Amino acid sequence: MSRLDKFINRMTSQRACLNHAANLTSDMPGPVYELGLGNGRTYHHMVEIMPGREVYVFERAVASHPESTPPDEMLMLGDVYETLPQALERFGPTASLIHADLGGHNPKKNDEFARSISKVIEPMLAKGGLMVASDRMYFEGLTEQPLPEGAVEGSCFIYG
Ligand code: SAM
Repeated sequence: MSRLDKFINRMTSQRACLNHAANLTSDMPGPVYELGLGNGRTYHHMVEIMPGREVYVFERAVASHPESTPPDEMLMLGDVYETLPQALERFGPTASLIHADLGGHNPKKNDEFARSISKVIEPMLAKGGLMVASDRMYFEGLTEQPLPEGAVEGSCFIYG
């Protein structure tokens, strides 16, 4: 599969999975977490599809499009290994939706990172909450959920 096809699959799947997870968690009161701001495309989409819900962003260095830059008070700046435990202490296990797109271009490194960050993310999710990830995650108590129509198997994952 060409890199262009892979990229299109990832973008299409992120949108379909985020729309689906936002719908299924729309009645939950807890915050939403975006892990990895990057250009801010998925953050921008999340804010648009979840008006009225608090979206906190975890990123080590902000380099986003000006239209997709979160306000300072919604930004958890630093390495997620430090900022996620801080958020757990502050908010408890209350997140209604967590989206993670923290990977780079090396699939092996992405998989190693996903393995190790899974145990940090898992305790943050509220009961009934959903986690959407661009990489396969390794949770103990959360199980993989079916993908919505429009998402491509292997391009995005949902756990709950
Ligand atoms: N979803 C974003 C978008 O739509 O534009 C793209 C995210 S980009 C693929 C991944 C981001 O994760 C990068 O901005 C990188 O700085 C961030 N990141 C990766 N590892 C991180 C870590 N350990 N702590 C904090 N941020 C990290």
